Amino acid sequence: MCFQFDMLIISYKEPLKGGGGVENNVFETLWKTRVTLKAQVLGWRLLLDKLPTKAKLIVKGIPLQHSLCEFCIECEETTKHLFFSCSISQKVWNMC
Ligand SMILES: [Zn+2]
Repeated sequence: MCFQFDMLIISYKEPLKGGGGVENNVFETLWKTRVTLKAQVLGWRLLLDKLPTKAKLIVKGIPLQHSLCEFCIECEETTKHLFFSCSISQKVWNMC
């Protein structure tokens, strides 16, 4: 699952180099889905890896006690971890 996320991010960055392809389809599909704007913006920020995770906040100098995921307290809280690797998040996603 993490590999797919990485490939998605890499695919997104390719068009900046003159490419095209999968990334355009991903974003087109995202904006055409029939979900709330809030969900679309969350998906957009997820694809761009721009969600304010603890790891990102610490890099920006925000003082936090730790960068561990609040759900599992096992791994650093990154976008990839929250959406694709966290054992607790996976249980929630599987309920949907
Ligand atoms: Zn976790």
